[in-house]
Amino acid sequence: MTGDERRAALDLIADEVRVCTACRLHEGRTRSVPGEGDPDTEVVFVGEGPGFNEDREGRPFVGRAGGLLVRLLASIGWQREDVFITNVVKCRPPDNRDPQPDEMAACAPFLRRQLEVLDPAVVVTLGRFSMGTFMPGARIGQVHGTTKPADPGTGARNALVFAMYHPAAALRTAAIEQESFVDVARVPSVLVEARERRAGGGMAVTATPEPAMISTAAAAPAPAVQPGPAPDPAPHAHASDPAVPAADDASQMTLF
Ligand code: URA
Repeated sequence: MTGDERRAALDLIADEVRVCTACRLHEGRTRSVPGEGDPDTEVVFVGEGPGFNEDREGRPFVGRAGGLLVRLLASIGWQREDVFITNVVKCRPPDNRDPQPDEMAACAPFLRRQLEVLDPAVVVTLGRFSMGTFMPGARIGQVHGTTKPADPGTGARNALVFAMYHPAAALRTAAIEQESFVDVARVPSVLVEARERRAGGGMAVTATPEPAMISTAAAAPAPAVQPGPAPDPAPHAHASDPAVPAADDASQMTLF
């Protein structure tokens, strides 16, 4: 699929999401929130569901949790436009309650189709409900910061899933915020590992550890981040595009 074809396919899904009445969540929505980002990205972030601000704007992660997500991305030198951001449910649960199983089931085909189109190398789950979609039965306190091959039935046919806490949880608890900065610092090397897997099923090679390239942006707190992965590969180039450098040639990757 070309980039234009991916964009068109994602737009089609978004159009369906905007008029969806498959579950009760449509009754209370102002706008549904299909998701947004770079159609050529290799990394998809999946949250739980829209909150108050997202419901008003029709865009994912634009409230306080979104602000933290942007700071987490900035800490690895990425911007939200570099990745694709979406949710398990596309309409706001009333009063920000947890999405219910039948609501998640009704919305699941949209996420599956988005992942089929994007064919990401890495899916980053944000929070329990997203994690539960890709790592059924897992506990967030145990699996955050770890990877697992995605079940192709999720739509991500050849991806690594990387679990993180939800940014809203990080906003509530300083220790979780710190762990989230540690976890996100692993994402670039998970991307390198995922490219390795996709490039031929050979042994995954972890990038040579070098000092972390943590953003010094004023907005970022001073997280207790350990020395992290090698310089960050950009998640722009789609794995199927010829311009992507060989996965074991990390030194040639576009750097931020
Ligand atoms: N929380 C989510 O899980 N998703 C959003 O889009 C915003 C807040």
